[in-house]
Amino acid sequence: MYLYNSATHRKEKFVTHTPGRVEMYTCGPTVYHYAHIGNLRTYIMEDALEKFLRYEGNEVNRVMNITDVGHLSSDADTGEDKMLKGARREHKTVMEIAQFYTDAFFEDCCKLNIKTPEVVQPATGLIEDFIQVISSLLDKGYAYVAGGNVYFDTSKLSRYYIFNDHDEENLAVGVREGVEEDTNKRNKNDFVLWFTKSKFEDQALKWDSPWGVGYPGWHIECSVISMKYNGEYLDLHCGGVDNAFPHHTNEIAQSESYLGHPWCKQWFHVHHLNSDNGKMSKSSGEFLTVSLLEEKGYDPLAYRFFCLQSHYRKTLVFSWENLDNAAKAYQKLIKRIAGLKPEDGAVDEAAVAQWKEKFLQQVGGDLNTALGITCLYDVLKAPLNDATKLAAIQSMDSVLSLSLGEKAAELRAKEAARPAAQTGAAGFTIQGEGDPEIDALVLQRAEAKKAKDFAKADAIRMQLKDMGIELTDVPGGAVWKRV
Ligand code: AMP
Ligand code: ZN
Repeated sequence: MYLYNSATHRKEKFVTHTPGRVEMYTCGPTVYHYAHIGNLRTYIMEDALEKFLRYEGNEVNRVMNITDVGHLSSDADTGEDKMLKGARREHKTVMEIAQFYTDAFFEDCCKLNIKTPEVVQPATGLIEDFIQVISSLLDKGYAYVAGGNVYFDTSKLSRYYIFNDHDEENLAVGVREGVEEDTNKRNKNDFVLWFTKSKFEDQALKWDSPWGVGYPGWHIECSVISMKYNGEYLDLHCGGVDNAFPHHTNEIAQSESYLGHPWCKQWFHVHHLNSDNGKMSKSSGEFLTVSLLEEKGYDPLAYRFFCLQSHYRKTLVFSWENLDNAAKAYQKLIKRIAGLKPEDGAVDEAAVAQWKEKFLQQVGGDLNTALGITCLYDVLKAPLNDATKLAAIQSMDSVLSLSLGEKAAELRAKEAARPAAQTGAAGFTIQGEGDPEIDALVLQRAEAKKAKDFAKADAIRMQLKDMGIELTDVPGGAVWKRV
């Protein structure tokens, strides 16, 4: 496949260190609050990328961290620890907060059909490894101790800004957010590898280290977790675009200085989901969650469909109207697929293979998931029998993960349950949306009318109206729809 590489600023053929095997790393959530649907946009697109690489025939080893320590309220080294902030807000311990929001994150992922990575590593589980890498960086002269903290010395690098196609405004964010100037730093971009109690007395989680009791910086966790589980050569590193600087820039600095050779070739950055009034962010406290979408009656997979309809390198603007449109299109697509008859003909394997090839080509141009969705509609229109169409759609859905086969089968089963409700009154046909409960009420009303029990018939009509059902009598039956 071809992918845009933020490190080289162009689209490139994606090549791995070991042919057929992808070592993939994903920055995981900071578990001090629920993930918002912006965070989840990033994880949906990364999930589609991983599944596409598997669809191409690769084996993928995907590693993700869970940030449960060290991420300060500014992405630079200032402010309060985010985890501590969460614990204070909810009067719980940091570890209780971490466990609760880690579980909540994976529950949301499950609802969105996001696969769990092969390795999920909380930062607090690998402190010894961080200390070992930091010690080595000190030994090699890439780090220094000042004011009780250990800093990475960026002046030792020949090139620090890797992702410099991001505009200066974005590059500066992490630095500008810092309210206090850290006078221990030798250079503006130096960053903390290890904090000690000398600076942050109120830190809840602390470990012993050669530099005093303290805790690791945020950036070191991703470098070390990746090097441990992905090995020395990383093929693909993913994250939201805000992670490019300073987080990913610092990861590269640490990993390459430690390893002594280039580390990761391909950098994949997902652009943000914005709400009407700007970027959705956890720290602002105003954000939308998957549970909220469900409360409002949306299927979480309609949100996945919404994300897949647009390109990962474009900012996506969320509005209820946009989500409504996506939800309607998703339901319509399921309905069309439900209309296909699985028993119609034998699967034409050659045709399925051709469609798979077309899908690979379309989506393989920089993860163009929108074109992948177009392929589904094209299959529905193609001159193929239903069994072949279903097989091709099922195959593509192993990447898109919209549960199309399952949802269509559910709808088909609902439809199949309808005639049972109609058998009570011979010749009375019901056209509706395939809900046996509603069909049964419509039928009871027809029987009441036939028996001239108009009071009962009217009562049932009112009951249906209260349920949001619009009922129209037609010759020989009735039509109902949800309004
Ligand atoms: P966090 O939990 O804050 O560490 O973020 C988890 C992931 O979500 C990171 O990869 C971020 O870059 C990404 N992210 C944060 N805000 C947004 C947003 N509004 N839209 C898309 N991705 C985001
Ligand atoms: Zn990271």
